[in-house]
Amino acid sequence: MKIIASADELRHQLAGLRTEQIALVPTMGCLHEGHLSLIRNAKRLADIVVVSIYVNPLQFAADEDLDSYPQPFRQDVALCEQEGVDFIFNPTSLYPAQGIQVGLQVNDLSHRLCGISRTNHFDGVVTVVNILFNIVRPDIVIFGEKDFQQLTIIRRMVADLHMPIDIISGETVRESDGLAKSSRNRYLNSEQRQQASKLSCALQLMQDKAKHENDYANIMAAGLEYLKLQHIDIDYLEICDEYNLQAVSTTKHDAPLRIFIAATIGPARLIDNKPLLSPTLEDKQPCV
Ligand code: AMP
Repeated sequence: MKIIASADELRHQLAGLRTEQIALVPTMGCLHEGHLSLIRNAKRLADIVVVSIYVNPLQFAADEDLDSYPQPFRQDVALCEQEGVDFIFNPTSLYPAQGIQVGLQVNDLSHRLCGISRTNHFDGVVTVVNILFNIVRPDIVIFGEKDFQQLTIIRRMVADLHMPIDIISGETVRESDGLAKSSRNRYLNSEQRQQASKLSCALQLMQDKAKHENDYANIMAAGLEYLKLQHIDIDYLEICDEYNLQAVSTTKHDAPLRIFIAATIGPARLIDNKPLLSPTLEDKQPCV
């Protein structure tokens, strides 16, 4: 495995490998089982796996956790080595010292869900992802469903801008109590950690409701009531069309529907999502 900080050097290294399938797994590091599942997907689908580790300043607002974002780089290197990654791309910066003058902009898809409180976040995401795509020129890129709005926006970016890249999604990896694994979970103390697991429980409760009586108002009421009982102050809880991320007000809808939640628990803003109609029952979590 090679660890490379320079974009030119990575381009040079990959130049001789262009006949192979190259997969990219973009991350901000602090790798956990969620990231590793994406890397395993990449290994299955491609010959060469590049993992980028870069905490992208452009996607953080001034009051967010850019400066405190955990960066256990040596541990990340060991995990990548263990998973058989070929290249770690770990640039110091991807932007000109004087600041970036030209970037990408997301329209309606970023005016919903997380985009409402995180203005410019998705513009920062698509800009850095585009830069990574231009450096690596991957055939395949793997993103997690954990960040479903991000995944949807990137799928649209690739389609709208005619990028010759396959976007593959990986399922959300969870702790045994259902909490979606996240680098930010380490910000939580044990009481907050306990409360955080209730986010996925609320989604599961809503899925159960949807299975038995598919009524929008009752499903939403069940979720909101449960979260209130758990004293969780949500940023949003919405049932949305999976493709355009528009909130619906009825469950009679042609496109698949997904439940999205965001809440701040202690120092961490956490997000999660699940399909409204779950195809499987195996992922049931122990919820009270
Ligand atoms: P991040 O390092 O948080 O920017 O995430 C890098 C990639 O890992 C993104 O595609 C995320 O959606 C994905 N990811 C983060 N957490 C999980 C998880 N629990 N399960 C699966 N994928 C995840």
